[in-house]
Amino acid sequence: MTAFKDCALAFRFSVIERLPEPPSPYAAKGTLVHRALELLMWQEEPPDRTRGAALRKLAVAVPEVLDSDEYRGLCLSDKERSDFVDDAVSLIDNYFMIEDPNDVRVLGTELRMSAQLGSLRLSGIIDRLELDGDELVVTDYKTGRAPGANFEQSKLGGVHFYAFLCSEVLGRRPDRVQLLHLREPLVISTVPSEQSVIALRRQAGALWSAVVMACDREDFRPKPGRLCSYCSYRDYCPAVGGDLALLEASAARAGSTARASGPDARL
Ligand code: SF4
Repeated sequence: MTAFKDCALAFRFSVIERLPEPPSPYAAKGTLVHRALELLMWQEEPPDRTRGAALRKLAVAVPEVLDSDEYRGLCLSDKERSDFVDDAVSLIDNYFMIEDPNDVRVLGTELRMSAQLGSLRLSGIIDRLELDGDELVVTDYKTGRAPGANFEQSKLGGVHFYAFLCSEVLGRRPDRVQLLHLREPLVISTVPSEQSVIALRRQAGALWSAVVMACDREDFRPKPGRLCSYCSYRDYCPAVGGDLALLEASAARAGSTARASGPDARL
């Protein structure tokens, strides 16, 4: 959703050109911990959602994730794999410092939702939907560092997106959306309002218009900043000394037709 705003050129590389990205250990860690917690919630009933049960789910999830086609390319040595899993264990331990999973009345996990906004189809995955008393709550697990105070508001944009999806698909706005930052650990929680959902609709529409205009003008500008350190497309990006000509060579090699097909509406 915010990728175009973060950097239009990186958005072009990812969504328009569909350049492959090398597997990310950060994404793999997130997938692994999400999967372990998903198994814990679905395969165990209270009061059996214990730390021991969570670690057994993690053990199941490790080969499922790290030996998958998506992440096999990480090529972790035995030591690196062991450190990787140890870090996932510490994230699970932190999770138990934030909440008792036996108190969670789960309605669904990893819920794929899509909603139409004019000609735009918006899709997202909700990590966990639950009831807290009569309140409908959306929970999102985060395994990276929590945003600093300056970036907290922008990250909450994603929260309002979840609220928008629930409103459209379930016909009910969540009473609360919470981000469980497992690294710190820390909970960032907010109460979406009718106004915040309306604002999300307006922003998404404006963003989509900007994407369409950028496509028409073939004008995707780089936006150098802190995200450049993690960017997979540095080799192509002139803003950090890369060469856009490499893109043509890469597209020719791949016989890419993606560019002609225009942007993917899943922001
Ligand atoms: S390196 Fe930075 S400026 Fe260049 S595409 Fe990536 S995020 Fe954008």
